[in-house]
Amino acid sequence: MTLHLHDTRLDRIVAFEPGPVVKMYVCGITPYDSTHLGHAATYLTYDLVVRRLEDLGHLVEMVRNFTDVDDSILPKARELGIDFLELAETEIARFHKDMADLNTRPPFSEPRATEWVYCMVELIENLSRAGHTYTVDGTTWFDVTTSPGFGKLSGYDEATMLELARERGGTPDDPRQRHPLDFVLWLPSAADEPCWESPFGPGRPGWHIECSAMGMAALGPVIDLHGGGSDLIFPHHECEVVQSESVTGSTFVKHWMHTEMVSYQGEKMSKSLGNLVFVSDLVERGDARAVRLALMRHHYRTPFEWFDDEFDRAMELLGRLLEATGEVRRPQAGPLTDAVRAALDADLDTPAVVSLLDDAAVALLGAAHPDEGAASDLAAASALVGVDLLDRDTVERAPDSVDM
Ligand SMILES: [Zn+2]
Repeated sequence: MTLHLHDTRLDRIVAFEPGPVVKMYVCGITPYDSTHLGHAATYLTYDLVVRRLEDLGHLVEMVRNFTDVDDSILPKARELGIDFLELAETEIARFHKDMADLNTRPPFSEPRATEWVYCMVELIENLSRAGHTYTVDGTTWFDVTTSPGFGKLSGYDEATMLELARERGGTPDDPRQRHPLDFVLWLPSAADEPCWESPFGPGRPGWHIECSAMGMAALGPVIDLHGGGSDLIFPHHECEVVQSESVTGSTFVKHWMHTEMVSYQGEKMSKSLGNLVFVSDLVERGDARAVRLALMRHHYRTPFEWFDDEFDRAMELLGRLLEATGEVRRPQAGPLTDAVRAALDADLDTPAVVSLLDDAAVALLGAAHPDEGAASDLAAASALVGVDLLDRDTVERAPDSVDM
């Protein structure tokens, strides 16, 4: 059995066959607001990758960073009138609770950007020495014309890249740039912003350089699998590629994997639009396992709209799974678990996984006689995808707390 996953750069599904230790980097959150379902869908997807790789016998070193200094957190802290690190601290604690509630595997390392600025400075210095940068008025840019690889990950043409750069925090209209697609590596801090000394002047790092520096510091120059939401393909990941490869001369990431966006009330779920469904609110209404099941009903590469009744339906499904495995003392993998493994191996076909689990529960509940083997297999198959059916305490409490 081999895990097959879609590769963004190749735009096709390929066998993912890393060595015994898998180096994995997933772009983390900017800790300035609570975890919403868009984040949950992304991190659950990579959690399934980690779980299946561990199931296949690999040791997974999954790094997920915190972008605790960038163009989003600083204005938010200013608006709230608190220190940006205080805001980060509060939101990181909330994020940890949400990830624990969702039963995601803990990361190997969770670097915070503010703790790795010296690595970012060093990387920019190396890029400067190799002739990839220029500095004007204290801002240092990456010169994309020095890297013929720019655009190869996304495959986007220049007009698309320009449009996306404009939408997603780039500065293509800044007259000081030599090329409109050049991107900021280092910039002067505003008076009330954090500031670090550097050879290119006092200031703070740009967002893209943060992940290149933290990824290489934690995992080395070559990463087996790099993930994030599809809105990070360009410019964020495209920039990571050229920044890293311009220094190392080797392929930075062997396999790129991206998750699609979640919308709500007709629009992409986003902080700026305010149409967010928070994980913590759902967990309060019911059981976190139902959030996993509800999200798994959607494939990670298909954008989808979230409807409120999906959580209620997932709670019903969880009820069936628990009832069908009520007598199980020890999960025991069997044919159902193998079928779930095969579905995961087919580019994480989670809708198929949910159908397999549900069908097995319905069959067990409708059978004339109890089938211990099938019930143990159902518990093992569910555990493989992070749904622990042997934890029954939470469950008894959960239906009472459902507020419909
Ligand atoms: Zn990143």
